[in-house]
Amino acid sequence: MHRPTVLDKQNWPDKKPRRKSRMGMGLFLLLMTFNAAFIAFSVSSSRTEANSSLNSSEPGEGLTFAPFQSARKVKGARAVVAASRVSFQSFGDKFQLSGGYLEGKEVRTLRLTVQSSLSFSVCRIVSEDQCRALAARIARKLAWFLDVNKDIRKGDKVVLIYENLPAEPGLKILKMDYFSGYLNKKLEMNFFKTPEMNYGSYFDRRGKEMISRLDSRTTPIRNYSEITALPGEMRHGHLSGHAGTDFKAEVGTPVFSSFPGRVTRTNWNTGKNGYCIEVDHPDKDVKTLYLHLDKVLVRPGQWVGQGIKIGHSGNTGRSYAPHLHYEIKSRDRKKTVYNPFIFKYHKKYSRTISNKFRKNFEKTIRLYDSLLQAG
Ligand SMILES: [Zn+2]
Repeated sequence: MHRPTVLDKQNWPDKKPRRKSRMGMGLFLLLMTFNAAFIAFSVSSSRTEANSSLNSSEPGEGLTFAPFQSARKVKGARAVVAASRVSFQSFGDKFQLSGGYLEGKEVRTLRLTVQSSLSFSVCRIVSEDQCRALAARIARKLAWFLDVNKDIRKGDKVVLIYENLPAEPGLKILKMDYFSGYLNKKLEMNFFKTPEMNYGSYFDRRGKEMISRLDSRTTPIRNYSEITALPGEMRHGHLSGHAGTDFKAEVGTPVFSSFPGRVTRTNWNTGKNGYCIEVDHPDKDVKTLYLHLDKVLVRPGQWVGQGIKIGHSGNTGRSYAPHLHYEIKSRDRKKTVYNPFIFKYHKKYSRTISNKFRKNFEKTIRLYDSLLQAG
């Protein structure tokens, strides 16, 4: 009998991605996010109020499932023996989770109704040192589905479960529901991780991954935790804002040439770019750039094939956290930049939770639902 052991990667999009210019506009949001100059949210229901009705030592609904084998690898996780149940306990305004990769996680819930200023409103209930980061994370996720500059409207609702982490990155969203009145759409993202994934991802209720990935044959990096920036907009024909796609990854992660081509230069403008590589692809009329590397494994003039390891990602130059900055730009003077998730030579896919992990996934979804009911 065929037992799937890896996530289904057959989920290819039916059509080639389109809408270059429109996506470019929508993605400008990311820059806005980091400038903290965007739409505001305000709180419609107070966390403290919601939790005051709970007995602080009362356990939540216990959900039983087989332990994740990788639970012991999770930093700060408790013993694996405790992982046969997924459950939570509330302590004041926090919840403590048990089971699988959720073991030992301390989470909070949050409900917001969009009124006028996001960071301001998030900051009304989340501590000042965290609220801007949380607002940025909300916007970063929404950017994949809507134009944050135009589509977020007063009355939209956000429901969150997020984790407090002792160290950087400090916060992690485990579940986000977003209700857009203007688009008349409901978005639901659930974080889930199987032992076969290096990092978890966000899935809809049916188990389909919501943020796509670049096909392993053309991706510049395979092992990354998330995408933290996408290319900014083109303004009056000039490039403004962020030109690349940032893949958050540990220093030393292999970086590959996305397409066959010739290395045109390495390590230029290192104060800004850090160690870096540029590869020319005349047949596709673009150059690809790989910045902030820890190690460069190629020399100018060298021919590289597709998927050939050309370096290691790092944190060099003007970079504030380990990541790969990947950029696709046209060879002409206009230097048009392309979003890799729209660029026609990059194939994309989304993973689907395989049957093997389906039960665990569904139980995690139910846990999230119970948390939101309780908080
Ligand atoms: Zn970048």
